[in-house]
Amino acid sequence: MKAAYIKEEHEILRESLRKFLEKEAYPYFNEWEQDGLIPRSFWKKMGDLGYLCPWLDEEYGGFGADFGYSVVINEELEKVGTGLIGIGLHNDIVVPYLEQYGTPEQKKRWLPKCASGEIITAIAMTEPGAGSDLAGIKTSAVRDGKDYIVNGEKTFITNGIQADLVLVVCKTDPKADPPYKGVSLLVVEKDTPGFTKGKKLNKIGLHSQDTAELIFEDARVPADNLIGKEGEGFYYLMKNLQQERLIVAIGGIAASERMLEITTQYVKERKAFGKSIASFQNTQFKLAELETEVEIGRTFLDRVVDSHIKGEDVVKEVSMAKWWVTDLTKKVAAECMHLHGGYGYMEEYEIARRYRDAPVSAIYAGSNEIMKQIIAKKMGLQ
Ligand SMILES: Cc1cc2nc3c(=O)[nH]c(=O)nc-3n(C[C@H](O)[C@H](O)[C@H](O)COP(=O)(O)OP(=O)(O)OC[C@H]3O[C@@H](n4cnc5c(N)ncnc54)[C@H](O)[C@@H]3O)c2cc1C
Repeated sequence: MKAAYIKEEHEILRESLRKFLEKEAYPYFNEWEQDGLIPRSFWKKMGDLGYLCPWLDEEYGGFGADFGYSVVINEELEKVGTGLIGIGLHNDIVVPYLEQYGTPEQKKRWLPKCASGEIITAIAMTEPGAGSDLAGIKTSAVRDGKDYIVNGEKTFITNGIQADLVLVVCKTDPKADPPYKGVSLLVVEKDTPGFTKGKKLNKIGLHSQDTAELIFEDARVPADNLIGKEGEGFYYLMKNLQQERLIVAIGGIAASERMLEITTQYVKERKAFGKSIASFQNTQFKLAELETEVEIGRTFLDRVVDSHIKGEDVVKEVSMAKWWVTDLTKKVAAECMHLHGGYGYMEEYEIARRYRDAPVSAIYAGSNEIMKQIIAKKMGLQ
């Protein structure tokens, strides 16, 4: 079943993106996984062809695309590998903050380069001591004349090594009560004195995705780099985190569909006891169950995406989709890896990589427990 928001123009984009990825991404992806980095040249090629932030207005280098295009781009990137998630993060998570809350000068300065691939962005919320409890962050930004002096440390930052521009979540009023009222968003550019990138983190999966620690030691950041109003950062985050969670759920469904596709193919080819593995009832029932659950997830997710495009309040539904779909992705990964037998445990097989990549989707963008907390709150359970 095709989603209602997917029209002919979205399919045309899918076709051209797929052809582009077959030439420019699939043949090199294993190499990128080994290098631990997506080359900047690939970002640039994506930008040249209009696959970066196509939703931006023409004056900033986009073509005013609706969110259906973002869904297609994220799905096609996910089919290559979850390691490309940093591109979706740039397109649909970080740049929207600049576009929605930035001043005309900030937009003119940054957005065209975000669309062309000259600027790679990151968002730095998490700290060594605070992840789920976002209001508990310690990174401070203290006003000093025309600047802010930023001190603190961020960790697990996607695109951290390559980022030219980092949207840093910081406390401009560490004494605010309640604490979330002291949170602001500040753009820190890569050559800012006092800003250094720490080590590239060694993860069990998403190998091609550079994830890093960021350190701020008396980093002097122009006050003109404040995004929106001082003290309102937490509101912006709460609003925009919905799209971030949706992007993760979209990736989870696309990954699950891909795992089912490769596993169905594998069990048809692999033989045991003189028959194909696909002929065993256990294999058929396992795959039939997973296919059903993925279809249910896809149908619900499409409904939530549709409501998101229409501008409806989808906080509860997005939280549901995020936890349910990513839990399913983990289950699909484990079952599909098992159906590959010993080969599923070998790095040459795509399912092995997907098995390593799947679990983090239940952790980032707000862990699945936090999603359940939001749903419970929306149900009036406090
Ligand atoms: C690969 C990767 C990429 C990431 N990219 C980014 C990024 O680009 N930018 C960024 O800012 N962050 C990023 N993160 C960080 C990510 O968002 C956090 O790891 C996540 O929010 C969880 O925070 P934490 O690691 O501090 O875990 P904790 O908050 O310490 O949680 C540990 C465990 O306790 C559970 N828990 C916490 N609070 C509760 C509660 N109230 N009730 C029940 N259970 C609870 C959690 O669900 C989790 O299972 C990334 C992480 C990874 C691994």
